[in-house]
Amino acid sequence: MERAFKIAVFDGDGIGPEIMAPAVEILTFLAQSGNYELAFEHVPAGAAHYDRTGESLPAASMDAARAADAILLSAMGLPSVRYPDGTEISPQIDLRKALTLFAGVRPVRIFPGQQTPLNMPEGREVDFVLIRESTEGLFHTQGRGEVSEKEARETLLITREISEKLFRFAFNLAQTRKDQGRGKGRVTCVDKANVFRAFAFFRAIFDAEAKRHPDLIADHAYVDATALWFVLKPWDFDVLVTENMFGDILSDLGAGLMGGLGVAPSADIGEHHAVFQPCHGSAPDIAGQGIANPLAMILSGAMMLDWLGVKHDHPGMVADGTRLREAVEAVIAEGTTLTGDLGGTATTGQAAAAVMARL
Ligand code: ATP
Repeated sequence: MERAFKIAVFDGDGIGPEIMAPAVEILTFLAQSGNYELAFEHVPAGAAHYDRTGESLPAASMDAARAADAILLSAMGLPSVRYPDGTEISPQIDLRKALTLFAGVRPVRIFPGQQTPLNMPEGREVDFVLIRESTEGLFHTQGRGEVSEKEARETLLITREISEKLFRFAFNLAQTRKDQGRGKGRVTCVDKANVFRAFAFFRAIFDAEAKRHPDLIADHAYVDATALWFVLKPWDFDVLVTENMFGDILSDLGAGLMGGLGVAPSADIGEHHAVFQPCHGSAPDIAGQGIANPLAMILSGAMMLDWLGVKHDHPGMVADGTRLREAVEAVIAEGTTLTGDLGGTATTGQAAAAVMARL
């Protein structure tokens, strides 16, 4: 059955429009050859838009995001454009809060041929997903911390409501990965339950959810030990789930293991909405030169196809998500059309064309 999906597209700032254009082109190509339709609606938001109009996330753009089946976002914010209080324009964070996108999904993949700072043993591959809670934790008082001459105070908040949704999402993802033959069916709760009562609370909610998934393996790890294992044996992980700040730090470590931000995709997912965007920012230092790496944006598009396909029971879209990810991985492994951040000399257009050629 032909299905049509509305995709809200935030082209964003800096390199945003340069990497979004080829990603949309590739997704359009896949939809044309699959039995589904993607209707892209480009909506304004971001620092440049704020500079021009005084609005960073217009109500009409927010409405379009809410009405869409999925949201594609490149990168927003520019260091040179700020609100009167000095903070940067970041509509992606506003979207996360407004749409309650509690699960920040950060896949970490290292496959044969990929550059990595790790010493990978022969025959090993890394394929795990870090889920970062994205609406509370230590970011709860973001922008509202109390600071006096003598001390500064920020509050960590962990709620039962969000934690239950987060862990349900993590176990469901592990089940989907297991069904797709990609994971061991294991979920690891990353916390600091040995020191903080809030994390013992977090862990107890995780354990309660684990009981509902007898076919999956549930275990725990302390965040400091997890950082060590990211470097020593990352191939052991499947799905990891953690608090906001721990996840913020570990996800950049994960991107580093993959060889850099230019190949690190992500998704922010809630119960009804999801935003797919690369882990990197708007990279104003290289904007307008046509040399930005489009692969993280394209991989985020592959995650979108996978998510839509699983959600709407459309195996063709799931298969296209896999096909697109594998095409990107083949381009990276081959290594002849890589952009400057990966040590190559290719332009954004050449790197994207190499992916298209693989497809
Ligand atoms: P933010 O805080 O908005 O996430 P950031 O300050 O972490 O942003 P980025 O915009 O992600 O910074 O850029 C960090 C560095 O990585 C810059 O030198 C930038 O040029 C480089 N970089 C980021 N994304 C890409 C990309 N897609 N291709 C090539 N280089 C990139």
